[in-house]
Amino acid sequence: MSDNDPRSILHRTQRIVVKVGSSILTQNGELREPMFGEIARQVATLRRDGREVVLVSSGAIAIGSRELGWDHPGHSIPEKQAAAAVGQIGLIELYRRRFADYDITIGQVLVTRSGLEDRERFLNARHTLTQLIGLGAVPIVNENDTVATEEIRFGDNDNLSATVVNLVAADLLVIFTDVEGLYIHQPEAGQPSPPLFDVVDEITPEVERAAQGAVSTFGRGGMKTKLEAATAATASGASTVLCNGLERDALLRVVGGEPLGTLFTPAEGNRVLASRKHWLAFTRKTRGTLQLDLGATQAITRDGRSLLPAGIVSVDGSFQVGDPVACTDPNGREVARGLVAYESEAVGRIAGRATRDIGQVLGYSNGDEIIHRDDLVTLETHDSTPASDQRLDTDH
Ligand code: GLU
Repeated sequence: MSDNDPRSILHRTQRIVVKVGSSILTQNGELREPMFGEIARQVATLRRDGREVVLVSSGAIAIGSRELGWDHPGHSIPEKQAAAAVGQIGLIELYRRRFADYDITIGQVLVTRSGLEDRERFLNARHTLTQLIGLGAVPIVNENDTVATEEIRFGDNDNLSATVVNLVAADLLVIFTDVEGLYIHQPEAGQPSPPLFDVVDEITPEVERAAQGAVSTFGRGGMKTKLEAATAATASGASTVLCNGLERDALLRVVGGEPLGTLFTPAEGNRVLASRKHWLAFTRKTRGTLQLDLGATQAITRDGRSLLPAGIVSVDGSFQVGDPVACTDPNGREVARGLVAYESEAVGRIAGRATRDIGQVLGYSNGDEIIHRDDLVTLETHDSTPASDQRLDTDH
């Protein structure tokens, strides 16, 4: 493998998040028990090599449904939640036993999106995970399905795995699934598999089209959420590999730089989003949308400026001071996200007005900026992120 090979950096990765999908731990509702041992064996090998590994594992709903004697993953949300409550025990117990074969302690970490949207809890989760890693334990993360309703959950462990990449500042995300990688178009029944994307440097419309497709029975995500995860993980500076976890030694081969699956190359230099901005862009759910005119779009995306009321054309949604909102350009394309300094009703009243009018129109002022540049992250081009931003910025 030459140094020009984009996979040569995988060999140097140090902290690895492995996302294990339900589709590789179960098949037609039956457990693939040997997979747990396979994962433990490969993780043990990587650790002997001095690397750190965090698992994000699905499977609770699949295992719980089987224990409950169902042939489906639960029809209603409470059914799924009940299945998760039953199945999480078996899931973690299987990991515990197989990792114990290698004298490795595991720790169970259950999170929800709404929990991690809170900055303090996000940082608490970071401290816990970092502590576990420091103690030599392997954290095994899953969504706490029992408390999470549709509104407040990640919904799929693909997006959760990208948030874990940010939480622990991992440099590699490996997404294990039961297909070979990202096919250049959807496989058709009875036809040979189409070729894979080998290396993806940029999420182009072509890559996005290739990811449209079916969702597996027990897992919640499809290729679409895997692509979202790759987008978010690479934005935080981690390489991402999507591959078939059922392949022998898949994890070891990925880290060894073998051309397995599809590699999404990491953002580099000042395109890497600092941790807090990454959290803002990818973990927090937006509560509304501000449509901007061209001038404001350019000011925030190209010049790294704050958003002032004059450039806002319209306001959608209902949000409070400090909530995250999306900013769209005149074509309706989302170009940035940020935390607003004014509630939605107030933004509606001062949209399009000069900054000096704020106090007179509202009778108060929270400052000139609707979104301060420090609370703003641009999505398409990250050039406006100041180079001085650290990857893992300080705890604030
Ligand atoms: N948290 C769910 C489970 O453990 C799975 C979510 C997903 O498949 O992405 O069953």
